[in-house]
Amino acid sequence: MEGNGRKIVVVGAGIAGLCVAVYGLKCGYEVEVLEMHDMAGGLAMSWKRGAYRFETCLHWLMGSKPGGDFHEQWQEVCDIDKLTFVNLDEFVRLETDGDTLRLYTNVERLEAELLRRAPENASAILEFTGAVRALGNFRMLDPAGGLKENWLNMLRDIPVLPLMGKLSKISGAEYGKRFQDPLLRRFFTSGDIGKLTAMAMVFSLGWMNAGNAGYCIGGAQSLIRLIEDKIASLGGKIRFNARVERVLVENDTAVGVELEGGERVMADWVISAADGHTTIFEMLGGKYVDEETRKRYDERELFASYLQVSLGVAKDLSDEPAMLSRILAAPLMVDPGTELDSVTFRIFHYDPTFAPPGKTAVTSTLPTRNFGYWSDLRKMNPGGYHREKQRVAEAVIDVLENRIPGIRDAIEVVDVSTPATVHRYTGNWKGTMEGWLVEPGDGFKPLRNTLPGLERFVMAGQWVMPGGGLPSGPMTAKPAVKWICKQDHVSFDLHTEREAETAAV
Ligand SMILES: Cc1cc2nc3c(=O)[nH]c(=O)nc-3n(C[C@H](O)[C@H](O)[C@H](O)COP(=O)(O)OP(=O)(O)OC[C@H]3O[C@@H](n4cnc5c(N)ncnc54)[C@H](O)[C@@H]3O)c2cc1C
Repeated sequence: MEGNGRKIVVVGAGIAGLCVAVYGLKCGYEVEVLEMHDMAGGLAMSWKRGAYRFETCLHWLMGSKPGGDFHEQWQEVCDIDKLTFVNLDEFVRLETDGDTLRLYTNVERLEAELLRRAPENASAILEFTGAVRALGNFRMLDPAGGLKENWLNMLRDIPVLPLMGKLSKISGAEYGKRFQDPLLRRFFTSGDIGKLTAMAMVFSLGWMNAGNAGYCIGGAQSLIRLIEDKIASLGGKIRFNARVERVLVENDTAVGVELEGGERVMADWVISAADGHTTIFEMLGGKYVDEETRKRYDERELFASYLQVSLGVAKDLSDEPAMLSRILAAPLMVDPGTELDSVTFRIFHYDPTFAPPGKTAVTSTLPTRNFGYWSDLRKMNPGGYHREKQRVAEAVIDVLENRIPGIRDAIEVVDVSTPATVHRYTGNWKGTMEGWLVEPGDGFKPLRNTLPGLERFVMAGQWVMPGGGLPSGPMTAKPAVKWICKQDHVSFDLHTEREAETAAV
């Protein structure tokens, strides 16, 4: 296909920036993606330490099932069917020293387990499992589509709208109160799940029950690599170690960006898929902000940041659950202001790419909102920072040792990342793991992706899609590119000759 003679510069090669590139290239734009890090992925990341690889992102990918909801959206940006997905039996196992709750992904098993544990609470349990079944069938609307593209899904979704309305208005914490089973109640009420709208967790369980929220072998990076391959096949360019400092603006029109070091990259459109706060208040100096946006950035709650303790264990742990949440007898102090009463482990025995045979990669994510503590400590007291990381790692290993005696001796790699690490590698404000928390009453509506008074500039990614997640990449990239096509009178046609030619080779 002939190019349309116009260029888009994209800031950030996280999933959203990469998806913008694919859609832009398919519509004939020249696309240059600028990424400050030396690899693509942003939060969709894993890292190698010794013989182990440690995943930080992927638990489940909505749209993993061929023919399932959202699968087509992934097919638009990559050859998703090349990935191998695993659907785990248990979403999470919660344990105290004397009690265990298995939250199965299959709703029949889940229902049986919950009714066995708390038969007196049957009506609340059946209402919950009914909601899981119903929401698993929900069809997302094409975010860039209109009535023509979406009418059938809208029609199919009508029966679940009242349920969604109800769940969207209450938090996980309120929802959890209806359960007498202390472990089930805890699942809904603790951490960010407790703050989120109840709809978010029920939706996730619904997708898992439908087999449409699998984990792909190789983690989030395997998806990222497929999208990079698609960009390469369409002739796009990703430049690494290219940190954007400023969006260049002339007469209230974005004309390009300036990189650290002073190089300028000019373009017809600038799309920022980087951190929202940095984009609006640093790259654009806070000049194009309305009251609503300012209020949002001043007042709204973000998903927490996190420390990640990653362990390379020279032991086959395939008899253990994939995700194990240990409720603690005494709280674990993460940092001043953050005490956790449970620690969750991801035991990656189901991903053979993460450890040699007979060994297992294990990670534990410890949520915290005390970004300042870790960031200041790293800058001002590197020795203290190192010691604090060691202290937290030891505390986490103690919890694991208490559950699996002798495991300490099998640990051959220990790695600790902190909120300062998340910020350093992704630029995300306060080291948040997913951007805006979706609170009761919010709904999952995307935010405005343009800024008032600024032409030829658009945003994509988790900062314009509350709730974030990998699907927010294509979900925000597609409407962004469709909108610029409309401004340029370019056809938004995703089936380019160039793609057809590549497929034929
Ligand atoms: C612990 C954890 C678990 C998660 N679990 C899941 C899950 O199971 N399923 C799921 O779907 N999602 C999950 N997510 C969420 C998901 O990873 C994110 O919502 C998503 O990856 C965000 O993508 P993004 O492209 O919007 O932003 P980012 O990934 O933050 O990408 C932004 C990119 O911009 C670059 N950048 C920033 N500033 C600049 C600059 N000045 N110049 C150039 N480049 C810049 C960054 O380096 C980065 O590459 C999880 C996230 C975390 C942290």
